[in-house]
Amino acid sequence: MDHHKALKLAHGLYFGGLILLFVAYGFLKDEPLTFSAAMIPVFLGLGGVVAGLVVTLVFVRCPRCGRSLFHSSRIMLSLPHYCPHCGAHL
Ligand SMILES: [Zn+2]
Repeated sequence: MDHHKALKLAHGLYFGGLILLFVAYGFLKDEPLTFSAAMIPVFLGLGGVVAGLVVTLVFVRCPRCGRSLFHSSRIMLSLPHYCPHCGAHL
């Protein structure tokens, strides 16, 4: 998978997951300890965020040296212009 497409997919998963978590918070803020259908967006949201991280780690790689371009603990919002490992233009 191309690193540009992989980053777009990861963004969809991250931000879709975060939106689902906000929706779940809206349902659960009044009754936080009740397991109900409102827990479904919690699991889907967490799954989306984790899947976004996995896609970033596995597929967002330099096309020349193959090393991961993900090098911090925060959500990767954009690709660097150059690979931090080999200097290839991205
Ligand atoms: Zn590289």
